[in-house]
Amino acid sequence: MGEIRSTCPYCGVGCGVLLRATATGVEVRGDPDHPANRGRLCSKGAALAETVGPEGRLLAPMIGERAADWDEALDLVAARFRRTIADHGPDAVAFYVSGQCLTEDYYVANKLMKGFIGSANIDTNSRLCMASAVAGHRRAFGTDTVPGLYEDFELADVVVLVGSNMAWCHPVLFQRLMAARAARGTRVVVIDPRRTPTCDSADLHLPIAPGGDAALFNLALAEAARRGLLDRDRLRNIEGVEAALAAARATDPGLTGLGPQQLAAFFDLWLGAEKVVTAWSMGINQSDTGTDKVNAILNLHLATGRIGKPGAGPFSLTGQPNAMGGREVGGLSNMLACHLNIEDAAHRAAVRGFWAAPALAERPGLKAVDLFRAVGDGRIKALWIMCTNPVVSMPQADRVAQAIAGCDFVVVSDMMAETDTMRLAHVRLPAAGWGEKDGTVTNSERRISRQRPFRAPPGQARADWWQMAQVARRMGFAGFDWDHPAQIFAEHAALSGVAGALGSDFDISDHAGITRAGYDALAPFVWPANAHRRGGRFFADGRFHHPDGRARMIAVAPQAVAGPMILNTGRVRDHWHTMSRTGLSPRLNQHMAEPYLEVHPDDARRLGLEPDGLARVAGQGRAALLRVLVSDRVAPGQPFAPIHWTGETAAQGRIGAVVEGAADPVSGQPALKSGAVAVAPF
Ligand code: SF4
Repeated sequence: MGEIRSTCPYCGVGCGVLLRATATGVEVRGDPDHPANRGRLCSKGAALAETVGPEGRLLAPMIGERAADWDEALDLVAARFRRTIADHGPDAVAFYVSGQCLTEDYYVANKLMKGFIGSANIDTNSRLCMASAVAGHRRAFGTDTVPGLYEDFELADVVVLVGSNMAWCHPVLFQRLMAARAARGTRVVVIDPRRTPTCDSADLHLPIAPGGDAALFNLALAEAARRGLLDRDRLRNIEGVEAALAAARATDPGLTGLGPQQLAAFFDLWLGAEKVVTAWSMGINQSDTGTDKVNAILNLHLATGRIGKPGAGPFSLTGQPNAMGGREVGGLSNMLACHLNIEDAAHRAAVRGFWAAPALAERPGLKAVDLFRAVGDGRIKALWIMCTNPVVSMPQADRVAQAIAGCDFVVVSDMMAETDTMRLAHVRLPAAGWGEKDGTVTNSERRISRQRPFRAPPGQARADWWQMAQVARRMGFAGFDWDHPAQIFAEHAALSGVAGALGSDFDISDHAGITRAGYDALAPFVWPANAHRRGGRFFADGRFHHPDGRARMIAVAPQAVAGPMILNTGRVRDHWHTMSRTGLSPRLNQHMAEPYLEVHPDDARRLGLEPDGLARVAGQGRAALLRVLVSDRVAPGQPFAPIHWTGETAAQGRIGAVVEGAADPVSGQPALKSGAVAVAPF
């Protein structure tokens, strides 16, 4: 068999890979023809072949501890969901899915829940990742639109990275940026409380105070106005300018934790260049004021006209491989398919008509934190979790575990037999994994790429979309009769044409008639893709997606983050999420072998923490024991711990249990990135 083109399943860079099946597994190399990576791979992508072994796979449906066949398991799931809906109404059931789902999986889950069950209680772990970016885009632009492209990182004169350890978390895009920097002297600014590896390649590192990002961008906006650098033509097409400027001028520079020289250096760089990209990631989104932080960034780009142009624009770096695809199908509980608005009657009518949906949800459903709260207090009585491990990844993870353990009926679809969430399921369904699944994903620059299988799933494992379609049919619903993901993709593309006619930015209707052969051969493309508009930058013409065509600037009042000890969290270079895949690679495990607490020397002295000793990090009535790493890369009072390690005991280092994770009131995204903790030697 020749090489198969597919896509890396880890981060939102969305690198193309070439796969060659071998007698013992697969060989993986970067796809030189994929526009995202042009042959490059990072350590995680390069180790993919080490993570596709059969170890730990769930090979058959399980009802309790008993193996079952698919018919019995699917009949049971359909019957329990049907009975729960009949007894308690559609809002008594919920789905919790994942940015690891392929777009076709996501589409079917949303169609089933929002169109046929009649509830919008479907949320996704993308809520933990991108929800504040989505909410910020929608407030500013009218739609969840990422305006720019990856090439903007190579065309910019200044690239500002906010709350993003890009060197470790989006490595291949960082490599592209570094290559551009070497070739044309791109100036790089990193805004991060920690001196991360990304800072080592920066011209300017601003060690921002926790929560100080919105204040910094407000101050830059006020400074732009003072220097006469606002784009008067653009401002005529923006609402809310004066209120946003007033809030900016009222901002206390002390909230940034930066000195006058640092602020001046930032203003000179940002405002001194026409071509500026501001890229952000979890350090902005995972905050209880994340949406305001996003809008503070968007305000500055809008007001200075640095948007929609080659090398200029705000850029949200997606965490997961398909967080964007999930957003396209309306994977969040407050969205409808194809970037349509669930609160808009005309949008609902269009989707209802297209799906011939008997019970289209009329209002937004529960967002992730509230969804698990509703599971915990018994309002949700049947729950289907797919492709994710919320017992580890949610904030206040112990409460989530208790909630799931107390739920009347829990279905978990996963490729692994023994995840922390799997152990709490009444029905476990074996899912196809990467290398076995067939579908599409969308990366951070709106590029849709195919994931193609190089082997059949082991045992009885099946694709997630197939599982849901089978349950839908057993519940008596029409419109779930696909037998290949190409048909789902075509249906989604056709619906996007309906959405495009209503003003949605997401329109891939050129592909509505795609055949199986066309789908198999589909090359990566950036949306929009329709007869009138093909992929490129949005907003070049100065028109936005609010009904009046105008953008909105938002008045942002920055808030300080208080507490003597604020823990920052994040990823390490070689692990992904809860390590269910990267933990299988000996090579990847070598980089950081155990959970750790990076702590400033002053804190170590003050608290009596010994290098390589153990620290007890406590919060929310729970604790994690972490190896002490003394380092001046973190600021005093701001230790850092990675998120990946799991397990039920403190000794297993599960940091999710100690982070409060209060939700942003606009986006519902939990503040997983930082939280007040107590630290002591153990
Ligand atoms: Fe995979 Fe992201 Fe690395 Fe690319 S940068 S190889 S998508 S983990």
